[in-house]
Amino acid sequence: MTPSPVLEERTRVAIIGAGPSGMLLAHLLAQRGVESVVLESRSEEYVASRIRAGILEQSTVDLLREAGLAGRLDREAQEHRGIYLQWPEERHHLDFVALTGRTVHVYGQTEVQKDLVAARTAAGQRVHYEIGDTALHDLESDHPSVTFTDRAGRARRVAAEVVVGCDGSFGPSRAAVPEAARRTWEKTYPYSWLGILADVAPSTDELIYAWHPDGFAMHSMRSSTVSRLYLQVPNGTDVDDWSDDRIWEALATRLGHGQDGWQLTPGPVTEKSVLPMRSFVQTPMRHGRLFLAGDAGHIVPPTGAKGLNLAVADVGLLAPALAAWLVDGDRRPAEAYAETALRRVWRCTHFSWWMTSMLHTSGDPFDAQLQLSQLRWVASSEAGATGLAENYAGLPIGF
Ligand SMILES: Cc1cc2nc3c(=O)[nH]c(=O)nc-3n(C[C@H](O)[C@H](O)[C@H](O)COP(=O)(O)OP(=O)(O)OC[C@H]3O[C@@H](n4cnc5c(N)ncnc54)[C@H](O)[C@@H]3O)c2cc1C
Repeated sequence: MTPSPVLEERTRVAIIGAGPSGMLLAHLLAQRGVESVVLESRSEEYVASRIRAGILEQSTVDLLREAGLAGRLDREAQEHRGIYLQWPEERHHLDFVALTGRTVHVYGQTEVQKDLVAARTAAGQRVHYEIGDTALHDLESDHPSVTFTDRAGRARRVAAEVVVGCDGSFGPSRAAVPEAARRTWEKTYPYSWLGILADVAPSTDELIYAWHPDGFAMHSMRSSTVSRLYLQVPNGTDVDDWSDDRIWEALATRLGHGQDGWQLTPGPVTEKSVLPMRSFVQTPMRHGRLFLAGDAGHIVPPTGAKGLNLAVADVGLLAPALAAWLVDGDRRPAEAYAETALRRVWRCTHFSWWMTSMLHTSGDPFDAQLQLSQLRWVASSEAGATGLAENYAGLPIGF
């Protein structure tokens, strides 16, 4: 039997991954007159339902507004002026508006993803969902391509001028950079987060980050009726060892239920999972005609709420850089992308590591005293508070 011919398709930019970085890149390129094809191994519904990030920094909101993607966000998101930092017997509010003039918005990654998909569907974006065997080719030549098997089992090839790896930490793009040309930087942490979603109104108006001798806890939210809460747990924790009652009890203790009359209201848990913590950077973020963006290039622990925001910042830089190249013939911004993006990546990597190290207990009493000293300084010194606020609410894209 003769094998079926490979179905050929041509585009200017082949984007691997239809998560937030891939779909936003497709949108920003289209607005600049650059056509793209997006390739995704999962289904549209699966990608849109992944419970992940929930805090959008100021630059992300500004970019989504400029891109015409913030209609629902502006109606439904909650704008927060700051966060609470706490440790036993003390809770302090850091007011980002007073400190830096910037805010953050609470709006789930699921909602960002739905808005992106709606906008790209309305514009007729070509997206291949549920593909397999994704492979990148000829990245060092002027005619790179991506091959894959589509959901009907047919072999396909997308020929492009540029390939962008937006395929997160498990995609093939990162490893398509030859070993001799890449360097990785990695740190794993000796703890994980047990995260829950609960159908209950948040017990706080803004996020609470709590240091506690039993371990870190955090009270976040997704809306006025859905709370998102986290507990520091040891690596290797089995989620089945944590009944809902045990989770709410630990949250009440660590978040200070009863302290100055504050109450934590429990409710039905609708999702429960354990999230390991990792910092990872791969350099360079460009090799030949392959560019890396979002989690494909870097991972941060979620304590600084930076993962999704960094992905947005990468493509916010990359889209105009690729348009300058492919529309105007000016390669310089694309050639500068890796270095420019990396400055922010390392800033956010440091901030995420710093927040993580300050708030998670290690069992070492000396470390605990240093953490408490640092927390007191951040909460009581304008310089300390401004440093946290500036990083948390987000530095401008291109910083
Ligand atoms: C469990 C979890 C919880 C998180 N919680 C938070 C949080 O609380 N706060 C925060 O700020 N950040 C959080 N993050 C990080 C944040 O969600 C990511 O930084 C963000 O999703 C990055 O977007 P991305 O588009 O770069 O990557 P992704 O969202 O990972 O998208 C990559 C896409 O590529 C696709 N793909 C993979 N392999 C292939 C292939 N071979 N072919 C085609 N497509 C492929 C994937 O299916 C996926 O849809 C969390 C991440 C995880 C994994």
